Amino acid sequence: MNIILLGPPGAGKGTQARRLMDKRGMVQLSTGDMLREARSSGSAMGKRVAEVMDRGELVTDEIVIGLIEEKLAAGAPGGFIFDGFPRTLGQADALDGLIERMGQKLSAVIEMQVDDDVLVERVSGRFTCGNCGAVYHERTHPTAVAGICDACGSSDLRKRPDDNAESMRQRLMEYYKKTSSLIGYYHAKGLHHSIDGLADVDTVEQSIAHVLDRA
Ligand code: ADP
Ligand code: ADP
Ligand code: ZN
Repeated sequence: MNIILLGPPGAGKGTQARRLMDKRGMVQLSTGDMLREARSSGSAMGKRVAEVMDRGELVTDEIVIGLIEEKLAAGAPGGFIFDGFPRTLGQADALDGLIERMGQKLSAVIEMQVDDDVLVERVSGRFTCGNCGAVYHERTHPTAVAGICDACGSSDLRKRPDDNAESMRQRLMEYYKKTSSLIGYYHAKGLHHSIDGLADVDTVEQSIAHVLDRA
């Protein structure tokens, strides 16, 4: 089963994708993570996109479609979770073509709805483990021992340079201008489901499970 988690920055896509990986053996494809990896590897593409990402703007369709295409080739028996992709209609069209070529289909697009003021609060407190990717929040979900990742014991805990108020305003604008039209696109295809992303992490997980068990 292949699914898309759709929602603005801070909606909880990455947090839920990790749970789906653990419980259903699905593979998370996060274009944000792939782009951050390219940046830290110092590749030419990583250098090109760094400023765009820090400003909170979208990088070109061509780059992210290329990244996704590479990862899809490896296949995933439990299916893929697309997290933060597609973000434009061009990316959505490209994904349709790629999935069809693999002889597969999309089962569901889950829109996670969260109010803007809560998104800003979530993103400003977010930090992640640079080693295993676990996602935390300074106030609502800190590590058990300060400075140490609960999941893997690493002390490489990081805050993202784009998780600041100004970049966040731009990212929200990009979401409403360029990404939110995907809701209509997938509605027309009969794939769109929306869930309450304001609930606690376990309840959101249950809402997603409810959709997937019927998809
Ligand atoms: P968040 O988890 O806050 O939604 P992401 O980690 O998905 O953010 O993305 C971080 C940044 O990477 C975006 O602001 C954008 O610059 C870039 N990016 C990630 N995915 C895409 C995409 N599919 N298309 C264009 N830009 C992207
Ligand atoms: P996204 O991938 O959509 O940008 P994340 O999964 O990274 O979102 O979550 C953003 C922040 O909000 C993180 O600090 C995370 O710990 C926190 N968070 C995620 N889901 C919830 C939730 N249901 N309730 C409260 N905080 C949450
Ligand atoms: Zn870790």
